Amino acid sequence: MSAPRFTGSFTQQLPIPDDAIAAAVAVMRSGRLHRYNVIPGETSEVARLEEAFARWQGARYCLALASGGQALQIALRAVGVVAGEAVLTNAFTLAPVPGAIAAVGARPVLVETTDDLVIDLDDLAAKAAGSGARVLLLSHMRGHIGDMERLSALARAAGLVVVEDCAHTMGARWNGRRSGSHGIAACFSTQTYKHLNSGEGGLLTSDDAGLMARAVLLSGSYMLYERHGAAPAPEIFEGIRLDVPNMSARMDNVRAAMLLPQLARIEASLQAWNERHDRIAARLATHPAIRLPARPPQEHYVGSSIQFRVPNLPARAALDVPRAAAERGVELKWFGAAEPAGFTSAHRNWCYVAPHELPQTDRVLATLFDMRIPLTFSLADCDLIATHILAALDETLPAGSLSPEAAMVESC
Ligand SMILES: *Cc1c(COP(=O)(O)O)cnc(C)c1O
Repeated sequence: MSAPRFTGSFTQQLPIPDDAIAAAVAVMRSGRLHRYNVIPGETSEVARLEEAFARWQGARYCLALASGGQALQIALRAVGVVAGEAVLTNAFTLAPVPGAIAAVGARPVLVETTDDLVIDLDDLAAKAAGSGARVLLLSHMRGHIGDMERLSALARAAGLVVVEDCAHTMGARWNGRRSGSHGIAACFSTQTYKHLNSGEGGLLTSDDAGLMARAVLLSGSYMLYERHGAAPAPEIFEGIRLDVPNMSARMDNVRAAMLLPQLARIEASLQAWNERHDRIAARLATHPAIRLPARPPQEHYVGSSIQFRVPNLPARAALDVPRAAAERGVELKWFGAAEPAGFTSAHRNWCYVAPHELPQTDRVLATLFDMRIPLTFSLADCDLIATHILAALDETLPAGSLSPEAAMVESC
């Protein structure tokens, strides 16, 4: 008998824990939702979250923001990116990353992607030299971390400042060091589909006092920066307080209150994601047509989603695989589609970015599938999902197919 259809939801996260709900309700009862609305002697929930996250992340400073995308924009402005400037970033990333570069009026310069889904360091070196860019907005897309020692050495040699997009690597490590501690600043998201859930929200960390003082002022601190939890000393603000515009991107106390209890339990969530990810990955690895991205020993990832490639995927089969999976109740995303579907947009869909020739990225994306792994899935669910993915592949792939890889279609 064939396996039963999977009936779980790929967008259903766990509920907010009861203590987090109680903390959020307590803020609402107080009426003091704005982060600077405190009574004498009170520390706001946002300031407490900043302290707790800085401590957990091992960063000197932390700033809570309205979204991960706002954290990216504020970080770019705080490192001094100005309109018209070239900013390097991964070609394989999510739309808010080139969007943040566009928001500050800068020009995204997209860097190629390796078969293992990380930034191509040779292309990075070439484009750093060719574009004159000073800043790399490095996106650890889908939680895949490149060789950070090589990347840091390259950035130093090229004079590049590195801002890390850690939307998918909150809790991950490279060589024992937390993802987000290799560049000058790191940006995290607490949006529902990330590793902490406050609906929307962002966190920016850095050890650089000047950068963080500019970021606090940019976030809209109304000169109340002394009420921050993990911000530089007031004298750092003195020379710049009237020069930095207020861009209103603060987090509120309700969201911070619901995040604090979640942060206290995040290690258990990270472990639960990896159990599920590794369970599915082990099954997928048994299929001869599947290639899983390499996970070097230095990389301690968080498997909140899974990616796999079918390197010899015939173009006509690319849509059949997700369709066959969907018939079995499994939601696979294909990054090679001409039109964005949900979060899967690719560089050719970002028509505000100057067109790039990225043959390597196109080849990788045309053969790349992606699946979310919410923690509402049990390990038995993961086994069933893996069974269905393997069956979907067997049904759609011509046996022994070695035809050329699928070509991407232009969409702008
Ligand atoms: C979600 C995400 C962001 C932005 O986070 P928001 O909180 O949704 O603004 C940035 N980069 C990547 C890779 C993301 O997945």
